Amino acid sequence: MNDKKNYGFTTTILHNDRRKGIEHGSLHKPVHTSVAFGYADARQLASVFQGKEPGFRYGRQGNPTVSALEDKVNQMEQGVGTLCFATGMGAIGAVFQALLRAGDHVVSSSFLFGNTNSLWQTTMAQGVAVSFVDATSVDAVAAAITEQTRIVFVETIANPRTQIADLARIGELCRARGILYIVDNTMTTPYLFRPKAVGAGLVVNALTKSIAGHGMALGGSLTDTGEYDWTKFPNIYENYKKAAAKQWGLAQIRAKGLRDFGASLAPEAAHHIAVGAETLALRMERTCANALALARLLEADERVAAVYYPGLASHPQHKLAGELFRSYGSLLSFELKDGIDCFDFLNRLQLAIPASNLGDTRTLIIPVAHTIFYEMGAERRASMGIAESLIRVSVGIEDTEDLLADFANALNAS
Ligand SMILES: *Cc1c(COP(=O)(O)O)cnc(C)c1O
Repeated sequence: MNDKKNYGFTTTILHNDRRKGIEHGSLHKPVHTSVAFGYADARQLASVFQGKEPGFRYGRQGNPTVSALEDKVNQMEQGVGTLCFATGMGAIGAVFQALLRAGDHVVSSSFLFGNTNSLWQTTMAQGVAVSFVDATSVDAVAAAITEQTRIVFVETIANPRTQIADLARIGELCRARGILYIVDNTMTTPYLFRPKAVGAGLVVNALTKSIAGHGMALGGSLTDTGEYDWTKFPNIYENYKKAAAKQWGLAQIRAKGLRDFGASLAPEAAHHIAVGAETLALRMERTCANALALARLLEADERVAAVYYPGLASHPQHKLAGELFRSYGSLLSFELKDGIDCFDFLNRLQLAIPASNLGDTRTLIIPVAHTIFYEMGAERRASMGIAESLIRVSVGIEDTEDLLADFANALNAS
């Protein structure tokens, strides 16, 4: 290849393994399943374990196939380093375990992936205070910050109601206060948005979703964007301060989070995710176009009470979404008018599949209050703006006219 530096998104992901050199000239990174690794001699083993030489120690802390995927995700997010985990929750859990101590305080968006919300409840029981705020307003975030605030945590487009955090202003606030800003980029993916651009220090991606895209492997990642000054973070142990300050955060997360809690990504899963990631941009173009078309169809239908999709002019953060993101995402949600049974409606769909994943190539649909948000109870649902009849759609890559016809038929029979 020539030495052009600024390849486009897809070119970069396709060719980055090969440009670094793959063993035996293989065009695709092989799946390395070995748990342990050999060394030239016993002294080299010691020096790899002491971090004086690069190399792999034990499969839980690193593996060549997993590190090739880490490199791909890192290229996508333009970070200084990326770690992969067994699941998205594994990545989020590791950051909290590795970086927070009793007495610390976190400001979190109240519009949050259900399991992240549940994880916060656990964290609170362990002595870390969490304030849930409306992250569409930077003022709400600012008002919640205390001397003990270590982390501000938000998602880009909230699932399922699609509220959009005031990402850039929250980034400015965190920078001014020296607080670590963590953005869960799962709903936008690095193709639509790079949290680094708004000053996020760490970026979470549930690779399970759109980055893998095929719904056949679980995985998660954390990217250090290089935007956060770790010398301002009081919870770094001396052990992890040996290298340059830019590496402190990930060094501690790799040891205290990934190594000690063990949510390591399997090499086979890393391979499946890497294959899917190659077509991320192509799939996002199609799913975003499908989602906009479907949102418009639903909004125009008299049997639909409300549609939540950032691509609609009626969405409260429509303009903000247009400024921040390349497109409006593949997730939408809607409420049917009173008197229409949402289960009967779902059962009339022929293509959209009742299931709980997101970012699959197939369109998936789920009645939120009765499933993924069931455990939290009606009161907390109401406080999060989740109506009992809310239906979430993760829009796939089906041909647009087929998808629209499926929903139109189901509505016409309602
Ligand atoms: C799915 C999801 C996660 C968790 O990812 P898993 O791989 O399912 O553990 C985290 N954040 C968001 C926004 C998600 O949609």
